[in-house]
Amino acid sequence: MNQPAIPATWTIRTLLGWSTPWLGQRGIDSPRLDGELLLARALGLRRIDLFMDPDRPLNPPELAAFKALIVRRAAREPVAHILGLREFWGMEFFSSAAALIPRPETELLVETVLVHVADRSTPLEILEPCVGSGALLCALLKEYPSATGVGSDLSAEALVVARRNVERCGYGARVTLLEGDLDGSVAEDRVFDVVVVNPPYIASGALQGLQPEVRDWEPRLALDGGVDGLELLRRLPALFKRRMRPGGVAVTEIGYDQGEAVEALFRGAGFARVELLKDYQRLPRAVVVRD
Ligand code: GLN
Repeated sequence: MNQPAIPATWTIRTLLGWSTPWLGQRGIDSPRLDGELLLARALGLRRIDLFMDPDRPLNPPELAAFKALIVRRAAREPVAHILGLREFWGMEFFSSAAALIPRPETELLVETVLVHVADRSTPLEILEPCVGSGALLCALLKEYPSATGVGSDLSAEALVVARRNVERCGYGARVTLLEGDLDGSVAEDRVFDVVVVNPPYIASGALQGLQPEVRDWEPRLALDGGVDGLELLRRLPALFKRRMRPGGVAVTEIGYDQGEAVEALFRGAGFARVELLKDYQRLPRAVVVRD
């Protein structure tokens, strides 16, 4: 893509026509979309407003504000961090470097619980170890209005993000957040109807090869699954056993190449009902276990 000439007066249209190749040349995957999101933020508009008024001229402070944002993006800082927001399951979540950015693939875990727990009005008790940003737990609380949740995380910083998101969604009274290793801080005898978890599952040696947005800007603690990526996943069969109520359901996200290994872990631990689920890209993405 060639860089267009610099016009005398910038408009929304000409500025996006300029920023798209500029970001593209810097390795950004979706330079048009990212430019739109950042320009909307710089102008205090919604993205849709940009299309309504493409010939709106921009004044120097607006240009400076946009420039500051795209320079950050060119350094491969994720859009979610720059905006401080990310959408998940139709809701907006506060997002920062303190917790993993919610991924669209993770919506599969919400869909899976919906399939297995048909009655939306039940007062489900949900456990989410590695709760991170809290987006997954909030999505479930949205779908099950009588449900309550316990989220735990090793990272105190992540829990600050989770607390903020839980409050933002209006679920403060329905959620307990605990700091600890997996379910280590949850009362010993407590069991749950639903356990969901998106543990770190990337092999330590593969972290360096991830895209810069993930490698340089997202918390290593939320990604690093140890030498073979399975360190946390290996602990889940025992966790599910001690935390699932009879008749309960538990789901974990997994890496696309971990399906067989994780299914074998659960079967080896004596679970009879184990199912591997694929995401919308048809890649293995989750394993669901039923009591
Ligand atoms: N899906 C994430 C990624 O590929 C990893 C999330 C995780 O380790 N739980 O960046």
